[in-house]
Amino acid sequence: MTVTASSEASTDALAELARIWRRYEGDPDGAIRVITETGCKAIGVARCSVWLLDEDRATLRCLDLYERESGQHSSGIALPAATYPGYFAALETEEPIAADDAHGDARTCEFSAGYLTPLGIGALLDAPVRTGGALVGVVCNEHVGDARVWSRAEQRDAAFLGSLASLALELGQRARREALLAATLESTGEGIVAVDSERVVAFNRRFLEMWQLDAPPREVTVLRAHMDGRTRKLDRFLADASDVLAGPESDTIDVVQLTDGRTYERTGRPQVVRGEIVGRVWSYRDISQQRRAESALRASEAHMRDLAIRDGLTGIYNRRYALEQLGAALVAAEGAGERVAVALIDVDYFKLINDNHGHLTGDAVLRDIARAMGERLRGTDLVARYGGEEFVVVMRRAGREQAAAVIDAIRAKLSERAGTDDVPRYTFSAGVAEYPTDGSEATALLGKADDRLYAAKDGGRNRIIAMD
Ligand code: GH3
Ligand code: MG
Ligand code: MG
Repeated sequence: MTVTASSEASTDALAELARIWRRYEGDPDGAIRVITETGCKAIGVARCSVWLLDEDRATLRCLDLYERESGQHSSGIALPAATYPGYFAALETEEPIAADDAHGDARTCEFSAGYLTPLGIGALLDAPVRTGGALVGVVCNEHVGDARVWSRAEQRDAAFLGSLASLALELGQRARREALLAATLESTGEGIVAVDSERVVAFNRRFLEMWQLDAPPREVTVLRAHMDGRTRKLDRFLADASDVLAGPESDTIDVVQLTDGRTYERTGRPQVVRGEIVGRVWSYRDISQQRRAESALRASEAHMRDLAIRDGLTGIYNRRYALEQLGAALVAAEGAGERVAVALIDVDYFKLINDNHGHLTGDAVLRDIARAMGERLRGTDLVARYGGEEFVVVMRRAGREQAAAVIDAIRAKLSERAGTDDVPRYTFSAGVAEYPTDGSEATALLGKADDRLYAAKDGGRNRIIAMD
């Protein structure tokens, strides 16, 4: 076997290309330039160029042309694709198009007058460039001079350069996709991490920030330990439980509480490659502020509700709420066949307390009686300020004797107490009525209790009347 000078040059050029190819992984334009230079050397032509079809496939545009003699690269010439139907038909099927006599060859003669003749090109060796199986362009090796017989080796090299151009374009597309993905990943306020069963595959800066990681995590177990250290136990357990319950194929959403008080909402989504789950993407959203705002709102709503049902001076319930609760207690009692006791309480000679000690002392007496009642009543009993120095007590599942006994105990205790500078000695009177004996409606019951209260006043005050 004889090795010709030209085949030796070809081998050298292609070996050199293989050696430096990796350099152009992230640089598709550089890769195309090195392909056209290698084409000139390996195939021994004056001009080698890479052309691409526009998106609408109407124009063939020169991406890069290398001219061996001048050592110059140029680009930008455009040719209308529709003018060369025979050429494109051949590119679709052949690999490469070896036109020894470009002017006479049916596949390339369309270029003769407009392109070949002015440039002095006699032979063409063109290889298709395909991405994803579709024709997207061509690598043209143009021999300036007369016709030339293309050897099998030259044809093989041309086809190889065509494939390499496809690869460069695909790498370029991939680099663009990756850049877009990276930009997307960084453009969100969410912390994102993608993991497979062992390794951390991708993450964004926000993720590092949110989990206070200095260096990019590598192993999932290390990352998990780091995150566990910053997460509160109970929530971590819940989060893990939800993973297990949901299974690897479903999306999960849960809330992660951090030891430093922050709250993250966590979304988990399986990473599927060709129908197989290869890992999971987690995204974290800081909802601490939202949580704080929500709980402040809830607290202020609760506060507003409370304000609406309470008396400002004494802190016990107000009249409106007491009447509402009395209505509800009567409905419940009717259904259950139970009794409800209602008592009206009025401070004796309260006007005198105001007159003798001042209004502030009067107010202190009102607070004192509210407190005394609150201390002695059961949880199911309700005490409210009914008006100026009048109070109402509603006792579910209690008759008037029971209510009278409880209130009388409070009365006795208060009346035996010595006065102080803050709260002088005082007494009260009360009238008690019960459902259903004294009436079935709130108004009737309150009316009856009021009648008895007046009877207690008439009877000398500091007493309770529960029956006519
Ligand atoms: P009786 O034993 O007959 O009930 O005599 P009394 O003085 O308690 O009755 P009266 O209804 O004449 O007086 C009630 C007084 O309560 C009149 C009013 O100025 C006073 N009062 C009403 N609301 C308040 C309040 O919020 N604070 C104070 N300090 N006094 C109030
Ligand atoms: Mg009164
Ligand atoms: Mg009074």
